[in-house]
Amino acid sequence: MKYYSTNHQTPDVTLQDAVVKGLAADKGLFMPERINALPASFFDNMSTMSLQEVAYAVAQAFFGEDIPADKLKQIVYDTMNFDIPLVKVSDNIYSLELFHGPTLAFKDVGARFMARMLGHFVTGQRSTVNVLVATSGDTGSAVANGFLGVEGIHVYVLYPKGKVSLIQEKQFTTLGKNITALEVDGTFDDCQRLVKTAFMDAELNAHMQLTSANSINVARFLPQAFYYFWAVAQLYNIVKETAGNSLQSSIFNLPSSIVCCVPSGNFGNITAGLFGKRMGLPIKRFIAANNRNDIFYNYLQTGQYNPRPSITTIANAMDVGDPSNFARVLALYDGSHSAICQDISGATYTNDEIADEIRRVYETTGYLLDPHGACGYRALREGLQPGETGFFIETAHPAKFKDTVEGIIGQPVAIPQRLQEFMKGTKQSIDMTSRFEDFKAYLLTQ
Ligand SMILES: *Cc1c(COP(=O)(O)O)cnc(C)c1O
Repeated sequence: MKYYSTNHQTPDVTLQDAVVKGLAADKGLFMPERINALPASFFDNMSTMSLQEVAYAVAQAFFGEDIPADKLKQIVYDTMNFDIPLVKVSDNIYSLELFHGPTLAFKDVGARFMARMLGHFVTGQRSTVNVLVATSGDTGSAVANGFLGVEGIHVYVLYPKGKVSLIQEKQFTTLGKNITALEVDGTFDDCQRLVKTAFMDAELNAHMQLTSANSINVARFLPQAFYYFWAVAQLYNIVKETAGNSLQSSIFNLPSSIVCCVPSGNFGNITAGLFGKRMGLPIKRFIAANNRNDIFYNYLQTGQYNPRPSITTIANAMDVGDPSNFARVLALYDGSHSAICQDISGATYTNDEIADEIRRVYETTGYLLDPHGACGYRALREGLQPGETGFFIETAHPAKFKDTVEGIIGQPVAIPQRLQEFMKGTKQSIDMTSRFEDFKAYLLTQ
């Protein structure tokens, strides 16, 4: 399968090149030239398959031409070795809990998959591949843990000093081995600028092989499609149970009334869901839930895309002022605003509205949302039409935002065991200024 650039100014590349390079030479994002639909027989059986089986079938549609079947199966099975349950929160609204992985956020899926696929592509290569990743918190931990110990790859995590939570910091500064944490005296935007400038620096690229693990990489964003299929399979089983087995076995017999809501920042996650729909997944429509960084929401309303500097909110993983994957959404719909509006609607919430939702849902149902999932839940609660059933992506565990969530519900939030484990490690990081010359000088010594 060939991959083209959304900027169309550079020749198509192989999957291997797309994964190793991350970004196209013309600064566009890579897109697969085709999206293979899954056969009816797959949908007929989907609800009886395991998560790993569903994921492998979807992975074959993406990557089957380019990776030997046994290798691809191993990558998928290693990546998807934790639960992703669909949990009922209220009438007609379900939570797809993507926080049961090692760092308790959905980014574990893409990061673990990408680490294994990149590892596959660099085996036998003489020089090390260096992954640069800028993080405001969650990406760094998922990527660092995903790549830990993968041979032939070194990861540099750049994070803004004093601007990530203690738990988040521990998740990428305590690992050692092939993971180096750089504590940048600046903001997340500074970190991202350092990384982007490094990719464009000829001297640095001659010195070392650099790639990105942000959601621009196809090996990180495409695997996220797996769990949209898994959500529908589980929803089918739940509906079937409550309907007393009166439904027939085909997944197509679900009334196509499923609405999927994705709390969105850089729009990698929702784009993977849109790929799923193209592959035949019976999802009627999507809702992109934003916090006050609602550039996409405004695009839907006006047809104008106006990026602007991000503002800090309590759903901080969605504080993105210029979502990278917007280019992919446009490519998927040939730039047609009306076609995009047919499949996707938007929602935007203030900090107060997010906090109210966490409190309200906790008090009325006992379910504890994190600030990102709260945007997703609220958008479904307000946006579902009669006869529709919704699920939202619960993108992280509420304990990752312990202080915020405790302040809202006025009760302690228990920290899961695997999160506590990280707290025991010793922080190791390298101080870095926000000047590119300093960052470059450091990398040139590596
Ligand atoms: C990254 C992240 C998001 C946003 O996902 P995108 O793919 O960037 O749209 C939402 N919630 C949490 C918890 C995240 O870590």
